[in-house]
Amino acid sequence: MMGFRDIIGQDSIISTLTGVVKSGKAAHAYIFDGEKGMGKKTLAAVFARALQCETPFDEREGAEPCGHCHSCKCAESGSHPDIITLVPEKTSSIGVSDIRSQVVNDVAIKPYYSPRKIYIIPDANLMTEEAENALLKTLEEPPSYAVIIILSDNKDRLLPTIVSRAVCFQMRAVDNNEVRSFLERKNPELTDTSAVISFARGNLGRAVQLSESEEFKLLFEKLRRIVTGVRDMNDTGISLAAAEAAGKKEEGDDVLSFLLLWFRDVLFLKAGGSEERLIFFNEERELARAAAYYSFERINRIIEEIKTVRSRLRSNVNPENTFELLFMNMR
Ligand SMILES: [Zn+2]
Repeated sequence: MMGFRDIIGQDSIISTLTGVVKSGKAAHAYIFDGEKGMGKKTLAAVFARALQCETPFDEREGAEPCGHCHSCKCAESGSHPDIITLVPEKTSSIGVSDIRSQVVNDVAIKPYYSPRKIYIIPDANLMTEEAENALLKTLEEPPSYAVIIILSDNKDRLLPTIVSRAVCFQMRAVDNNEVRSFLERKNPELTDTSAVISFARGNLGRAVQLSESEEFKLLFEKLRRIVTGVRDMNDTGISLAAAEAAGKKEEGDDVLSFLLLWFRDVLFLKAGGSEERLIFFNEERELARAAAYYSFERINRIIEEIKTVRSRLRSNVNPENTFELLFMNMR
C-alpha cells in the first residue's frame, strides 16, 4: 500500500503531516497547493488513510497507514465510507450542487465507523464562486469530526476566506537528481533523461509523462536545433524553422515554454549565474555561446517577444508568420 515513504521530494510537508497523524489532532481544513503532476492526490490519499488507520501506532511504521486493517483495506479499494473524494458532475467545473450534495449536506451525517470523516476536493480551482461560498459555510462551522482536504493548482485564485481557514502546504519542486534517480528506477532502459528533467522542472508527474512520450523527444530535438542554429540561418532556413515550430497546434504551449526557459537560461548565464542552476543543465556550452552572442537588451527583448507570441497565438493569428518574425528577431 502506498505510504508517505513513497512520496518523493516533499519531506517538510510529510514531516508536518506525520506529526499531525501521530498527535491525532488534525485541522478541519488543509490546502495542498501546486501544479498538476506534483503528487497532491497521492499525498491526500495517504494522509487520509493514515488518519483513518485503526492499527495502534506501536504496531505501525511511524505514521504510515498499516495497509491491512479494515479501514486501510476499504481505502485501498476506494470504498471507504468516511473518505469521500468529490466527483463533480461536469468535468469542466465544480458547481454549487456538487459541493452541496457531496460535502455540505453529507458532512452533517456522522461518520460511518471511523472517528473522522475526510473529504478530498481535487481540482478545487474549478469551483464556481457559488460553490466556493457553499464550501465556506462548512469551513466556518465544521462538525468536530470533519477534515476537508482541498487540492488546488493556485490557491491565490481561491476565495481568501477559504484560504485563511485552512492549513496550507505548498508542494515543492523536486530536486533534479531525485527526479533522475526516480525515472531511472522506474525505467532502467531510459538513457538520456536530461531533456525530460529540464523540462519537467521538478514536477515528478510531468517528468514521468514526458519520459514516456516519443513526441516530446522529437519536439525537444527540433527546438534545440532551432535555438542553437537560428543565428546562422538564412531566410529560407528561418521560414522552414517557423513552419516546423508552428506545425502542431497542440504543441504550441510547449514550444513557447521551451523558448522562454531557454532564453531565461541564456540571461541567467550572461548575468553570471552558476552553471549548476541552469534549467537546461546539459546544454551549458550552447547556452554560453548564445550568452556571448546576444546583448542583455536583446535577450530581454526576445523574452518579451516570446510572451507576446503566446498571447498572439491565443488570438488565432497565423502561427507560421508569428514564429517567422520571432526567429528573425532571434537571429
Ligand atoms: Zn490501517
